[in-house]
Amino acid sequence: MRAYELIQRKRDGGELSEAEIRWLIGGFVREEIPDAQMAAWLMAVYFRGLNAAETASLTLAMVDSGRTLDLRRVRGRTVDKHSTGGVGDKTSLVVVPLVASAGVRVAKLSGRGLGHTGGTLDKLESIPGFRIQLSPDELIDQVNRVGCAIVSQSQDLVPADKRLYALRDITATVGSVPLIASSVMSKKIAAGSEAIVLDVKAGSGAFMKTPEAARTLAAAMVEIGRAAGRRTVAVITAMGEPLGRAVGNALEVDEALRTLRGDGPPDLQDLCLALGAHMVVLAGLAADHAAARALLADRLRRGDAGRTFREMVAAQGGDPGVVDHPGRLPWAPIQRPAAAEVEGVVLAVDAEALGSAAMILGAGRARAEDRIDPAAGLVIERKIGEAVRRGEPLAMIHGAAPAAVEEAIRRVRAAYTIGAGMPVRPPLIYGVVS
Ligand code: URA
Repeated sequence: MRAYELIQRKRDGGELSEAEIRWLIGGFVREEIPDAQMAAWLMAVYFRGLNAAETASLTLAMVDSGRTLDLRRVRGRTVDKHSTGGVGDKTSLVVVPLVASAGVRVAKLSGRGLGHTGGTLDKLESIPGFRIQLSPDELIDQVNRVGCAIVSQSQDLVPADKRLYALRDITATVGSVPLIASSVMSKKIAAGSEAIVLDVKAGSGAFMKTPEAARTLAAAMVEIGRAAGRRTVAVITAMGEPLGRAVGNALEVDEALRTLRGDGPPDLQDLCLALGAHMVVLAGLAADHAAARALLADRLRRGDAGRTFREMVAAQGGDPGVVDHPGRLPWAPIQRPAAAEVEGVVLAVDAEALGSAAMILGAGRARAEDRIDPAAGLVIERKIGEAVRRGEPLAMIHGAAPAAVEEAIRRVRAAYTIGAGMPVRPPLIYGVVS
């Protein structure tokens, strides 16, 4: 086999066999196929696409490039959850302990944030002492004792994805549906759970800007799950404005804790119940979605989900006292309002712009090596459809550097469209692909 011929065939719109794709990925990971040839193949895929069989072959070849997690020693049904990323998306902090309190077993491998969306690990690390590195044995032991764990993905899981993503990042080939789908699903399949629930976000704060584009990505990922023998459900959800009100690591933990106490923002609570219900059904713990949702609502009401969160934090070395005393989380020295300059109703919010305002305060990373400030971020005071008078806050800005706070205030104001009338609110959930 020659890499040249495989690049040429894909460039001309031809199909590659499973053996050819395995050979290509294996050779690339062993550094026998140079970056230049792999970059050319990625660009050919970007323009020509991959069919379902090719996408599944690519994903499974990526899974086999490294170690996989064996969860067979976990007692109970394992279900994983993944979000394609959005602004203020703290659903994992709520959903994972919530479904665990209802009997689902969750061994979740998470990532750090890059760009305008935050990472679950960064959020959890704002809890003093929280440890994100567990060995596979520690992870399985904790899932058996507590019901759940959220940890960092080990370096040897899907090494092909790390190398391919680095190449895609510098060759303008990230935004390809089969490449995104295989990247996400290779990590989920390697992480070992029997079933997977995907939250595919659509809107200004997401990778996929429209519900149609999100549905295409969702269908590609569900098809990979089917080919790999993992029951997979994708929920297409709105990311036209940040989820809940908090954007920033400790601020989002605080909001997640309030949601676990049954006192969270309605959109966040609703989404957590919807995603969680799919996980409960996949685990076989409820007959249908409505029964699963009722079970989870009951767990929230009884405080079970909050108790499971506390046990997870304690098991991973964190201060469990933050659950009842959020003052123990880090808080920013400067807290200033971004005040509205005009009066009216919030017609639209640019979620990506709010994410970038939080990033310049230190809540996120522009480059992978940047350090984050766990206390930094913003809390939205006006969501779409809410009225505001001149001088009233659109958001509270939490930061440490006066110049960054000033810049964030400017960006937050620019992110809002305020006018007359009543905006049409998009639904929280556009649809489900299963
Ligand atoms: N997230 C991933 O894990 N991979 C992609 O390619 C894009 C988003």
